[in-house]
Amino acid sequence: MSTTTTPAYDDNNVFARILRGEIPCRRVYEDEFALAFHDINPQAPVHVLVIPKGRWVSFADFSAGASAQEIAGFWRAVGEVTRRLGIAARGYRLLSNVGADGGQEVPHFHVHLFAGRRLGRMVA
Ligand code: 5GP
Repeated sequence: MSTTTTPAYDDNNVFARILRGEIPCRRVYEDEFALAFHDINPQAPVHVLVIPKGRWVSFADFSAGASAQEIAGFWRAVGEVTRRLGIAARGYRLLSNVGADGGQEVPHFHVHLFAGRRLGRMVA
């Protein structure tokens, strides 16, 4: 039984349009599971978004409904992005906003990757 309250996927959200090539992006990495590109409004010297290729609104429905192959492929892609960016030695931060209280603006699951300076302490 599913207890998810995730809304239906909107095929016209901005990341869906980026995936379809309708909106340009500064691509960092792409494979069959994920696309990574620079955030249009960076909050750190490195601010990259990693999104799955599938139609997932947020981590909530992704974690409940995606196949093990999709989940593993996505997170492996996140790791590959960190290696390609050369940020592993100094460190970085991964973050995913979920839903209204999480402050999520774009309703396609994404992970923010921040790096390039000493990041501040996380505050709620
Ligand atoms: P959220 O608040 O949903 O976790 O973050 C959405 C992120 O997407 C924001 O950091 C915002 O700057 C970024 N963003 C929104 N529209 C675009 C766009 O058209 N292109 C790119 N590259 N980033 C976008």
